Amino acid sequence: MVKYNGYTYSASYTTGKKIRWRCSTHQHQSCPATIHTIDDFIVAVNKAHNHHPKLDFSDLEYVMSNKGNVMIKHQGYMYHIKRGREGPKKMWRCSRHNTFHCKATLITIGEEYFQRKYDHNH
Ligand SMILES: [Zn+2]
Ligand SMILES: [Zn+2]
Repeated sequence: MVKYNGYTYSASYTTGKKIRWRCSTHQHQSCPATIHTIDDFIVAVNKAHNHHPKLDFSDLEYVMSNKGNVMIKHQGYMYHIKRGREGPKKMWRCSRHNTFHCKATLITIGEEYFQRKYDHNH
């Protein structure tokens, strides 16, 4: 298994020293992205992923705002919880949503699932 840019790859075949790795970030989604390595160096990155990278919970930090609301800090961005949702699935909106009309949203489901929808525009 190799990890690259938040994606996980598993070896699919070897030709001499060259190993071809297939994206295995999402097993059930057939993602066309592959990388090639020779002696542990990435020599080629092929095709775009058809999904976002899986995010790492270790980068996520829950913080308390001045107003006493729980916020998420992730990779230098702050997120507010989006109200009106019950249950373990939570949506978190970029704190610059109003200022920059940023659409970036985080989705968390308990401690198991953590994903980002849309990229930041700032
Ligand atoms: Zn992929
Ligand atoms: Zn943003």
